[in-house]
Amino acid sequence: MVRIARSTLIKRKMAVEMLQLLKKTGGAAMSKSVCVIGAGVGGLTAAAYLAKEGYKVTVIEKSTTVGGSAGWYFRNGRKFPTGATIAFGLEEQGLLRTVLDDLDIDLPAADLLHPMDIILPQEKVSVYKSTELWEEELKRAFSERSKEVLKFWRALQQIGEDVQAVTESRVSLPIRRFYELGSLPQHALKHPASVMRLARYALMTVEDLMKKYDLQSYQPLRQLLDAQLLDAVQTDVSQAALLPSSLALTIYRRGSFAIQEGLGQLAKTLAGRVKELGGEVVKVSPVESLTYDTSRKQWDVISRKCTSSFDFVINNSGLSFGPGTSYGADDEFSWGAFRMDAVLSDEVRRGPLEGVEFPFAYQIVPQFDFSSLVKNTHGPVYATFHNTQDMKGNLLKDEVTMTVSLHTDPDIWSTYSKEKYKEMKERLTEEILNEIDRVIPVRESLLFAETGTPLTYERYIGKTAVGGFPLTVKNAILKPKSVRSSLPQLYIVGEQVFPGPGTLSSTLSGYYAARSIMKER
Ligand SMILES: Cc1cc2nc3c(=O)[nH]c(=O)nc-3n(C[C@H](O)[C@H](O)[C@H](O)COP(=O)(O)OP(=O)(O)OC[C@H]3O[C@@H](n4cnc5c(N)ncnc54)[C@H](O)[C@@H]3O)c2cc1C
Repeated sequence: MVRIARSTLIKRKMAVEMLQLLKKTGGAAMSKSVCVIGAGVGGLTAAAYLAKEGYKVTVIEKSTTVGGSAGWYFRNGRKFPTGATIAFGLEEQGLLRTVLDDLDIDLPAADLLHPMDIILPQEKVSVYKSTELWEEELKRAFSERSKEVLKFWRALQQIGEDVQAVTESRVSLPIRRFYELGSLPQHALKHPASVMRLARYALMTVEDLMKKYDLQSYQPLRQLLDAQLLDAVQTDVSQAALLPSSLALTIYRRGSFAIQEGLGQLAKTLAGRVKELGGEVVKVSPVESLTYDTSRKQWDVISRKCTSSFDFVINNSGLSFGPGTSYGADDEFSWGAFRMDAVLSDEVRRGPLEGVEFPFAYQIVPQFDFSSLVKNTHGPVYATFHNTQDMKGNLLKDEVTMTVSLHTDPDIWSTYSKEKYKEMKERLTEEILNEIDRVIPVRESLLFAETGTPLTYERYIGKTAVGGFPLTVKNAILKPKSVRSSLPQLYIVGEQVFPGPGTLSSTLSGYYAARSIMKER
């Protein structure tokens, strides 16, 4: 006990001395300095833009690897994703592609022509990139109401394209500075009808659009939309804001990509670019405190391996270091994730499934009510199948990796005793495997499975809730969160400020924060 307390005291004393030294020398650098807390994709994007612009950038990361919930970890000699598996927006002119082009980053990715099968209680719906195949599928799966469903989907698609075009103009909400308009005024002059449409739909939910086609009580469509929305925007048709949801619902189909070595490559490549551009990425160095010195107009950052003063701070961690430093502490409910990474023998692709074309992911609306096991846990079960890699990234040809996630209450797991925690994990794993087995018989080929709860996320990335707050009309349109905080020279990025289709939204928030810093220096 005494040793721990002493070492903490020594660390604090050294940190204070270091800060005093920096104060004496003025801590002045040739260019302005920026500290990015957290190497998630949002923070790394901001870091890369700023390093490219000549800022002195230091990214400080708690974990041993970069990427946060779009990173990777190692177990049993294999490499697994920490969360995200599908990349969005990498098509020509796509939103993520444009950001990567700005940063001179080449990220090879395979276009997913059949990204997903959605398994409803009575029906399987295959999502195809080809509009022709997709519309055929809608007609087949929703044959009783195919006319209205098709009209609804075309309207949704149109709104999604309008939202995408506006997002491409690089407008960022809430608009409080002229530059935050991006090229929206020019876009509005060129495409007035599109902008008028968006204004008309701004306060609508997805359910409101369903009502236009008298589809609000049509359960099969509702189940499909709820499954997709809960994954992408953290809420269902009755609450989900139509504008961001239209983008989330349609991007699955036209802009889903797989990256050969996993989506963790995005963060890895961004971190590499930051270093090439002269920035620093310091890992295994959790930030402990953040204080603003009003006389020097600088932020003093103390972390395990790096203690210094910075002109700007970008908080990507989702954690609060005091009032106003994060949105993570807001009251808005966010989900946690129950995760399973399983390795299957490639037998799974043989037998009755020999030659069957697998989608990249399955979204399964469960027949079992998970909340009867773990309070506030519900579907869909989201399972992706991809190549197994060893720790060096080599493919292990006779294995398949299955990554599964399910929404769960982020706080409930810490209330269980050690025994109960273990029991609940095992029971939930069993039920999830039962649900997947209905679609693909995986049990017989299961070699091993690793499971994690919100407490696992907390241990590795510092937070139990992942995916951001629900994109309701209030959160997305009426009171959107800004990358600019209420504190001087402090910015907030990542899913906590701009949720939606995961890595894509976080990346965009990183760009917006970097732009604000460049414009306001
Ligand atoms: C199970 C699951 C599946 C998902 N699937 C997809 C998908 O298929 N496609 C997709 O696009 N998105 C997906 N997402 C969402 C996507 O992964 C996230 O929205 C996105 O990666 C969040 O990025 P971020 O920039 O907010 O940073 P985060 O990923 O939240 O990273 C924050 C970083 O801060 C670090 N940190 C925390 N505390 C400290 C501290 N004190 N000091 C320093 N560093 C600290 C953490 O270690 C972490 O690296 C999924 C998420 C989950 C959980």
